[in-house]
Amino acid sequence: MTLSVSRRALMKGAGAGFAAALFQPAVRAADSQESQTDWSGWTICDSCNHMPMCGIHFKARGNTVIRIENWNEHPNHFLCSKGISTLQRLYNPNRLLYPMKRTVPKGAADPGWVRISWDEAIKTIAEKLNAVKEKNGADRVLFYCGDPKEPRPPVMRLARYFGSPNYCCESSVACNLAYVHALELSYGAEIAGGPSPKTKCCMIVGKNGSWASPHGFFRNLLAQKARGLKLIVSDPRRTKVAEQADIHLQVKPGTDGALAWGMIRVLVKEGLVKREFVDKWCTGYEELVKYCEAFTPEYVEKETGVPADDVVKAARMFADGPSSMMLPGQSIPHQGNGCNNVRAYSLLMALTGNVDNAGGSTFNNWPEDYIRWDEGYTKTFIDQAWFNKPEQKARRIDREFAPVWNEMQVLCSPNKLPEMVEEGRIKAFAGFGTNLLI
Ligand code: SF4
Repeated sequence: MTLSVSRRALMKGAGAGFAAALFQPAVRAADSQESQTDWSGWTICDSCNHMPMCGIHFKARGNTVIRIENWNEHPNHFLCSKGISTLQRLYNPNRLLYPMKRTVPKGAADPGWVRISWDEAIKTIAEKLNAVKEKNGADRVLFYCGDPKEPRPPVMRLARYFGSPNYCCESSVACNLAYVHALELSYGAEIAGGPSPKTKCCMIVGKNGSWASPHGFFRNLLAQKARGLKLIVSDPRRTKVAEQADIHLQVKPGTDGALAWGMIRVLVKEGLVKREFVDKWCTGYEELVKYCEAFTPEYVEKETGVPADDVVKAARMFADGPSSMMLPGQSIPHQGNGCNNVRAYSLLMALTGNVDNAGGSTFNNWPEDYIRWDEGYTKTFIDQAWFNKPEQKARRIDREFAPVWNEMQVLCSPNKLPEMVEEGRIKAFAGFGTNLLI
């Protein structure tokens, strides 16, 4: 069965009720012999690797789920946009259900897909990958794993025993790891958590935590606001989070670096820098003072569209201790030079002495063998050690265009994959759960 619904219409009507109405016909035929009694229940979402998962309250008609909503009493709600879209994953009539093989050469209007067995699919793939390995070398095959993240450890292991160090995933394209990488460059670790009862001021940058953050992030934010938290939000959009802000810095997309450096300049010029912290823990302060000189509030207003007065007010509010925390979102590293823009925002924490203090920004302290929810493997996972060997890193495709990333990260960056294919550096792509548009 096919439904002719445009992508735009689908996106516009992405609410659960719409999804239920859209996809229900696809299963109704199969369900017609069964009871059509309405009932409801509770479950958990398995659409990502957040542990513990978020709670779902669902409504069903017979064996068909017709609505997904927050399980309000569950410790982890609200559902993020992925969780709330579960009906699409269950019932979209265009889901791929079996191995399919193209029978018409690429370029034809109809690829001529035919269903094949799993045995044939696996045998065909293995033969083709081994042929590339024999002719060109194992590192000419790039392995890639998208989201959800459960398949990542086995795909990584497959790449390792195939002999290719070119194992990439959605996180190593530009997503969370770019943000982590930026913070690791400045602090050696990523910031974790959200504002606590001891946080006096929180600055959230490019992050709509009402829709995109799990674990009751927005509920906690509202609770902290109710007890007096000061909130600064930098976001081009008027999001639910921005609506809670004491100061909403409506920055033009892509100009975050200028805004961050403008705030840094205010701290320096107004003597708001915590020198005892900086002198003890930081390097390069004199260079920072020189570099920020150009970012006057007027210049920042011109670049970013944020009124000069608001830049000054935000810097003062952030510096007004005893405890402020910074939460840069994952949209920032998606900009050109985004890694350095995250680093610029993160400097505000060190300059005001808000690093690892009560109510300030805290860093992850993963136990030695903790299973990272976003990568699915442990620090002592033996395959990770293989990928981290210098001889494997030297064979990775990101060695030349992203040498710092190559040095620091166990996952390869595929960001120049089209060029690598054109140049013949990559001959085969083994993608698992992959949307190449990312
Ligand atoms: S964060 Fe989103 S995708 Fe992950 S478990 Fe919660 S609702 Fe599901």
